[in-house]
Amino acid sequence: MADILDVIKDRDPQEKEFHQAVSEVMESVKPVLDQNPIYRQARIPERLVEPERVIMFRVPWTDDQGNIQVNRGFRIEMNSAIGPYKGGLRFHPSVNLGILKFLAFEQVFKNALTTLPMGGGKGGSDFDPKGKSDYEVMRFCQSFMSELFRHIGPNTDVPAGDIGVGAREIGYLFGMYKKLRNEFTGVLTGKGLNWGGSLIRPEATGYGSVYFAAEMLATRSETLEGKTCLVSGSGNVAQFTVEKLIELGASVVTMSDSSGYIYDESGIDAQKLDYVKMLKNVRRGRIKEYAEKYSSAVYTAVDSALDYNPLWNHKADCAFPSATQNEINSRDAQHLVDNGVVMVCEGANMPTMPEGIHVFKEHKILYGPGKAANAGGVSVSGLEMTQNSMRLSWTREEVDSRLKLIMKTIHQTCVDAAEQYGKPGDYEAGANIAGFVKVVDAMLDQGLV
Ligand code: NDP
Repeated sequence: MADILDVIKDRDPQEKEFHQAVSEVMESVKPVLDQNPIYRQARIPERLVEPERVIMFRVPWTDDQGNIQVNRGFRIEMNSAIGPYKGGLRFHPSVNLGILKFLAFEQVFKNALTTLPMGGGKGGSDFDPKGKSDYEVMRFCQSFMSELFRHIGPNTDVPAGDIGVGAREIGYLFGMYKKLRNEFTGVLTGKGLNWGGSLIRPEATGYGSVYFAAEMLATRSETLEGKTCLVSGSGNVAQFTVEKLIELGASVVTMSDSSGYIYDESGIDAQKLDYVKMLKNVRRGRIKEYAEKYSSAVYTAVDSALDYNPLWNHKADCAFPSATQNEINSRDAQHLVDNGVVMVCEGANMPTMPEGIHVFKEHKILYGPGKAANAGGVSVSGLEMTQNSMRLSWTREEVDSRLKLIMKTIHQTCVDAAEQYGKPGDYEAGANIAGFVKVVDAMLDQGLV
């Protein structure tokens, strides 16, 4: 196990997030490797950490002043053992190869857990959509797709959204793909409803995360009703996490963006959430404005001198980190425990650092790792692909009930795999083991390719 980490650290020393993701999975699957020598003989760990293909490309575009801008585009086609590559596109200035490799690696196991036939991939750009006009975003997306289109397709690689890529960006990307290929196919998911999208796709990651949380709480005969919840982020995942929590009778007291967070002691109700949606999705404003509108809320700006995030230091029962990776360190985790939190459910990918996870496990917190808890998004993307292939649209109720069933199944799969390998109640181990076994058995069946 140490060997494979040494290999990737020697080979790509700067890819810290990728090392972290590989380390977490390899630690969990050690008993599986020990009990099944065939996996090591077939060099499965070495094969898993090397993407099947990495595509990097130049993305030139012109801004509204007529200046030429150049960004870098990526697509990591990580593993196609159980289906076409599938995973989101992220547009954010922090994007680099290491971050996308970590996300693609996680996606492989997450997709395996969904019960749907999808391999793993991820892509994006260091382009920052913040502060750009719609026309600038459109020109960027068109340039990005003018290279990506030759590498993707409904049976090859099907990208979706992620940070910085929502309905607007998917629309521009799809328009260019269609023009270049001269075909209308389900090559992207998260499409608009009137041109091939699925009902519930925008809601799916957030709703799915709350369904997973409800399953975890049920193992202790608890429900979300009346629970006080901390949520980070105010984008797609956070908004629909809050929506479902309100519906189930929980009280959500925080939301954030990369500049700071609001704490609303009286709870974010449906009307206030509508305001957040308008603020973030239409006006593309900052969460600070929430506290200017609602006097029950206090805004705290990010203070980079602090070695903890004060958002996680409030009395609560449950926490839903739904912004980005590594947003909970060991100090934040200890604050959550000290404030009475009994469950942490990850809407974001890898939001908790390894030391934070250690704190949760030490205190027997119900900890739902992102690759299980946020798998609802890619699951409904899979359902969107199915509907596109069948050329029909399921109702909202139909998709939502399938999503619920998938989240319930993922929860049970994690519970069973953890028990089978002597780690009862450890959802992280269960998710990693179940995803790993499914993918690597398919790799073995398909020979050395
Ligand atoms: P959005 O772009 O819609 O929202 C992201 C939110 O997180 C924004 O509030 C953003 O603030 C905040 N944020 C982003 N980067 C940082 C940072 N470095 N520090 C603090 N806050 C930050 O993205 P999503 O909601 O789609 O994604 C959120 C998380 O969920 C990501 O980890 C993503 O990988 C994961 N995820 C998303 C899925 C989906 O279906 N969309 C599926 C599964 C996982 P600001 O506006 O200031 O940038």
